[in-house]
Order: sequence, then structure tokens, then C-alpha cells
Amino acid sequence: MNNDIKKILIDEDSLQAKVKELGAKIAEDYKGKDLLLICVLKGAVVFVSDLMKRIDLPLEIDFMAVSSYGCDTKSSGVVRILKDLDKGIEGKHILIVEDIIDSGLTLSYLIENLKARGPESVEICTILDKPDRRTANINIKYTGFQVPDEFVVGYGLDYAEKYRNLPYVAVLKEEVYSE
Ligand code: 5GP
Repeated sequence: MNNDIKKILIDEDSLQAKVKELGAKIAEDYKGKDLLLICVLKGAVVFVSDLMKRIDLPLEIDFMAVSSYGCDTKSSGVVRILKDLDKGIEGKHILIVEDIIDSGLTLSYLIENLKARGPESVEICTILDKPDRRTANINIKYTGFQVPDEFVVGYGLDYAEKYRNLPYVAVLKEEVYSE
């Protein structure tokens, strides 16, 4: 798998240090509040499992799956809920945990959808942000790293469902896409 990597953008140590920092900040901000982390499948799985261990609060976690990219590298703009939350979220403080925010279209749909369910608050925590490509106007409370306008894989992010298990964030060699 390492042979497919063109360059590493964010190494494992930097990711872990950032997650620790974000977790501490979140714990401080949500002290005494009823916090529910919502992990957006599948990309945010790696991040949320590291992050939740760094938030020293009695939090809950739930999962949602929405359609975004297929095997392509561009957003379709079509958002469908493939898996919904297990329970209602009335009165809870929601923190949506994302892998990457690109156009922001997926997330802006998700935020509106969740707000309509009566939570106390809805905020966003993403490990990666690609601000150059933003078209939706969204407010991100916690960001790990900004990345350039390149297609990245690893730390939960896939290309055609592969490379999610890389412990770092990387760019693939061009030839991988033409195989
Ligand atoms: P948006 O709606 O913000 O354009 O897209 C968000 C989703 O697209 C992310 O949750 C992620 O699944 C996917 N995505 C956006 N940029 C990248 C990227 O550079 N690499 C990978 N693997 N997925 C991406």
C-alpha cells in the first residue's frame, strides 16, 4: 500500500497531537453539558475513535451515513441518509464529527436536518478542512488541519473504499487512479 503513496501531508504524530489538543478543548467547552458526538460514516470513524478517548466527559456517540462521494473524486451534490441516528436528539448538545469538509454541501444539509430535530446546539468538529473548495456557508467550531485542494486519503479517508487504514493523511500517485 505504501508504494501507492506520492507524499505524506500529515504524519501520524501530528495527527495524534492535534486530536489530543482538540479533545481537551472540547472537554473544556462542554463541561456539565449533555454531549452527543455524531460520527459521519465511514470516513470519520478513525478520527472519532481517537477523539472520544481524549474527551474527558461522560459523552454519548451515534452514527449517521449519508451519500457523498462514490468511487469518483467530485461531490455529486446529492445527499441521501443511508443510516439514521438510533435515538432522538432533543435537548442534547450535538457535535458532528467529520473527516473532511470540502464543498460543505453534505454538511450543510446534515446541519439543517439535525437542527429540525430540536437539539440544544449543533456544532462541527473536522480533522481536515479544504477551504479553497467551499461553496456552502458553514461555521466550523473545531478544525484539525487545513489541506490544499488535492484529493487525500488515509486516517479514515478512502479512494474507492481503500486506504482508510493508513495512519497518516497522504496524496496518491497519479497511476493509482488510472489502474
Ligand atoms: P463535501 O460535501 O464537503 O464536498 O464533501 C464531504 C465528503 O466528501 C467528505 O466527508 C468525504 O467523504 C468526501 N471528500 C471530500 N474531499 C475528499 C478528499 O480529498 N479525499 C477523500 N477521500 N474524500 C473526500
